[in-house]
Amino acid sequence: MHEWALAEAILSSAKQIAEKEHVATVTEVTIRVGELQQVEPPILRFALTQMKQGIFGKTKFRILRAKSTLKCRVCGTSWQYNTKKVDKATSEAIHFVPEAAHTYIKCPKCSSPDFEIVTGRGVWLEDLKGVK
Ligand SMILES: [Zn+2]
Repeated sequence: MHEWALAEAILSSAKQIAEKEHVATVTEVTIRVGELQQVEPPILRFALTQMKQGIFGKTKFRILRAKSTLKCRVCGTSWQYNTKKVDKATSEAIHFVPEAAHTYIKCPKCSSPDFEIVTGRGVWLEDLKGVK
C-alpha cells in the first residue's frame, strides 16, 4: 500500500512548515483524509510512528476523516455522501475504487449517476502544533 509513501510526504511537508515557523519540537500534527481516499488510517498512523524522528520524536498524530461532498452535473444539487447509509460491501467497494461510486450513488433529487466529487478525496495537513 502507499501509506508509507504518504507518511513520508506528510513528514516532509510538516518539516518544511516547522522550519518556516521556527518550531523546534513538533507536538501534534493533524492530518485530514478524505473518506473516498484509498488510505487506511491505522496503517498510516503506524507508518508515521515508525518513521518519526528528530523534531517529530514527541509528535502525536491525529488522523481525521473528511466528509465527501458530491454535486450532480445534471441538476446541480449538492449533497453529502454518508458511508453509514450504505451497506458495508458497497462502502468498501467505493473506498477502494472511488470511481465505483458512480455505480452505487445517485443524485437524491433527479437520480442521475452523473456527479462530481467536490470534496472527499486527497490527504492534507490540517494543523501543526509545536514548541519554538
Ligand atoms: Zn441531480
